[in-house]
Amino acid sequence: MSGPRPTDSADDDEGDDIITPDDDVVVTCPYCGEENPIVLDPGGGTAQDYVEDCQVCCRPWQVHVRWDRDGHADVQVDAADS
Ligand SMILES: [Zn+2]
Repeated sequence: MSGPRPTDSADDDEGDDIITPDDDVVVTCPYCGEENPIVLDPGGGTAQDYVEDCQVCCRPWQVHVRWDRDGHADVQVDAADS
């Protein structure tokens, strides 16, 4: 379920390029191993940590989201149920 994605063009000028941040990603549940699409909030800050439940097994994940300046989200999920 991945749409077309423009190739990155490095452009350091303050330009009028419109950056479209990643707003959904697919993560793999650390418990059941199933892939889950999750929705991100690009407006919520460049570093976000929160708890979200797996849509398959309903266990809680600790979700770590880091955004880079190109609007790319680096997402990690850990087991929060420790
Ligand atoms: Zn799961």
